[in-house]
Amino acid sequence: MVLSPTTWSEPLAQPSQTEAAQTEAAQNEESQTTAAGPATEQPEIRRENGQREVFCGLTSIVWLHRRMPDAFFLVVGSRTCAHLIQSAAGVMIFAEPRFGTAILGERDLAGLADANEELDRLVGDLLERRPEIRTLFLVGSCPSEVIKLDLAKAAERLTHSHRGRVRVLNYSGSGIETTFTQGEDQALMALLPLMPASDEEQLLIVGTLADGVEDRFMALFARMGLPVVRSLPPRRSTELPPVGKGTRVLLAQPFLSATARALVHRGAQLIEAPYPFGVEGSAAWMAAAAAAFGIQAEAMAAVLDPLVERGRRALAPHRERLEGKRLFLLPDSQMEIPLARFLSRECGMELVEVGVPYLDRQLMAAELALLPASTPICEGQDVERQLERVRSERPDLVVCGLGLANPLEAEGIATKWSIELVFSPIHGCDQAGDLAELFARPLHRRGLLAFS
Ligand code: SF4
Repeated sequence: MVLSPTTWSEPLAQPSQTEAAQTEAAQNEESQTTAAGPATEQPEIRRENGQREVFCGLTSIVWLHRRMPDAFFLVVGSRTCAHLIQSAAGVMIFAEPRFGTAILGERDLAGLADANEELDRLVGDLLERRPEIRTLFLVGSCPSEVIKLDLAKAAERLTHSHRGRVRVLNYSGSGIETTFTQGEDQALMALLPLMPASDEEQLLIVGTLADGVEDRFMALFARMGLPVVRSLPPRRSTELPPVGKGTRVLLAQPFLSATARALVHRGAQLIEAPYPFGVEGSAAWMAAAAAAFGIQAEAMAAVLDPLVERGRRALAPHRERLEGKRLFLLPDSQMEIPLARFLSRECGMELVEVGVPYLDRQLMAAELALLPASTPICEGQDVERQLERVRSERPDLVVCGLGLANPLEAEGIATKWSIELVFSPIHGCDQAGDLAELFARPLHRRGLLAFS
């Protein structure tokens, strides 16, 4: 086992297919259609199973390492895993990296070496070189899963041997178990048992936000009169918020199903709301939180009304470019439904199809209620079938993963990389104009190309 370099400057590569996709390829190819709730009111939901074209959960390290600068993410995986996070994160790294890969060599995979001993040695070296690390995440991968390396036990052992110096946690980012954004869900689940119990009244914002966006939300909630507002993950990995009966959970990201349920299991109440994308979603998200704490309508309006007005003004020029354009979202980031709601209701786009890796009906209830009833939603993926539909529909814009963007661009279809939406500051009324611009830009660029 060797530790791969932790300073990278390679350009963004575009993996065509993850191993996860290959694993799925041979599986069930059936598709079926069901209705979510009353068939006349709710969008129709098609379910597909087949080859997938999505990143694995390792990708979430790209934004998690920036959120918690005192944590280190050590992927226990192969050179492919190292290459993935290197490629996905390479362009994002401007500071000392806080992740690396313990590469399982052939001897480890063949069972000739004691991978646990090597992992212990490697972690010892790492901690000696990097005294600032307070939390070390051992991140499982497909290879570590295949050789059944017990990372939970390894984390326990390493926490014990480095007691008082660092705590070692583990979670899986393997493509066999996770897609793209599920990595954050798994990382938060690893932190959850360390959250102290308390019944203190608090609003807990769950899901990584850009620091500036979070500061803004904190200030706005304070102006509304909310008493205590905390966030998970915290900015310092060791300063975990408490959880208990007085906790009301407000999800900032729509891909945290396991974490949301685990928090409820610890006594918290989940606030049902649309997600804070666009003016409408952000205002409803903030209003739901305020209502959960009994804030009066006037106090809410005093804060929200100017935000809504400014947000709508910022949106207007982008709406002109997006209105009437046909949009196809392929399943990737799990943010597709809230984005589709924003782009159709506030930007006037026509939804050709909305793909989503998996549909959590409870966490999406408020969003589904806002989508036009005729919206075709596709849960899961059979990438070839979806591409056939893209080609026959010829939408104006396709939101998809990196691996599909280039081929579609080559066929003359404008694309937007979904990964960009996860680490761009797009939450809140203040960001609604920027969010719309992210979708307007590829259309503008294609327009220029067509003209020249
Ligand atoms: Fe590929 Fe699996 Fe490693 Fe992800 S975890 S890069 S899918 S081998």
